[in-house]
Amino acid sequence: MKKIICSAISVLLVLCLFGTTLSAFAEGWDTPPVPFPCDEHVFGQTTTEPAGAGKNGKVYQKCKNCGEEKVLSVIPGIGSVTLSATQFYYNGKAHTPTVTVKDVKGNVIGASHYTVTYVNNKVVGKKTYAHIVFDSEKYSAAYNRYFTISLAKPVVSVKTSAAAVALRWQKVAGAQYYRIYQYNTSTKKYVRVANTKNLSYTIKNKAAGTTYYYLVRAYFVNANKQEFLSPYTVKDHVKAVTLCKAPAVKATVSGKNVTLSWGKVTGAAYYRVFRYDVKTQKYIGIVNGLKATSYTVKNQAKGTNYYLVRAFNVAGAGSAYNTKILAKAIVK
Ligand SMILES: [Zn+2]
Repeated sequence: MKKIICSAISVLLVLCLFGTTLSAFAEGWDTPPVPFPCDEHVFGQTTTEPAGAGKNGKVYQKCKNCGEEKVLSVIPGIGSVTLSATQFYYNGKAHTPTVTVKDVKGNVIGASHYTVTYVNNKVVGKKTYAHIVFDSEKYSAAYNRYFTISLAKPVVSVKTSAAAVALRWQKVAGAQYYRIYQYNTSTKKYVRVANTKNLSYTIKNKAAGTTYYYLVRAYFVNANKQEFLSPYTVKDHVKAVTLCKAPAVKATVSGKNVTLSWGKVTGAAYYRVFRYDVKTQKYIGIVNGLKATSYTVKNQAKGTNYYLVRAFNVAGAGSAYNTKILAKAIVK
């Protein structure tokens, strides 16, 4: 019985207080009451407001009476989120560049504060990135840091004849096709020569004794028909110097001397003169590094002598030859 009375009194009291407050508002308090300054703050529990992207966080306590904050420490905001590398070559394996995070003051934020997930980090032709999520007590933010996986550059070797350039390269992992360009050094333009699935390509109808530049790029076409070509720089061009045409040699006999002469050969840096020994079937060098287009061989043996002149291009490769192009000289 005592309990019931007690409760009834409590209820009455609460109602009474509530009524007073209401009437106080009614009497002209337009705005809620400003809290009175505390005589003595009563700080509650310690709370952490996490730092974000470029935004400081804090560890603080709030006064239970007036709401004033006491900041215990400031957590510097997240400043930079970087990857150890942003360019990779496809190798069929997952690429996982290291993530480095620094706060706005330049101090490293430890990896315990974030998780890194790599997306499409094994393929060519998709958006590849590291997804970095800060979900610790001290930090809250999310970042994407993009990087590329491209096909490796084909390593190209060159073989030339007087009229053709044969390019050959190693298979590039992940490549579907290869694209060949001819590079014009004066216009600095690339002209597409061909696309191929093969690991070699021969470009025909080139001029003899001429320097050409080629570039081979591996490429991959994704489901949306977008092409992803291997990167390149000017250093990746291969130089191809076609062989010079064989000089057409005329032999003139004067006593025991044989004068060999020929027209200037396009692209020839120098000439080399040989005598052909029919018995041993060997070419014996007479003179090398000759710039002139004629040469006199003195004191030649009686009978039929054979000679060969080869034109060497700027790459130091000699014109093709066989016994059909020998110059014949009969010394009496
Ligand atoms: Zn207070």
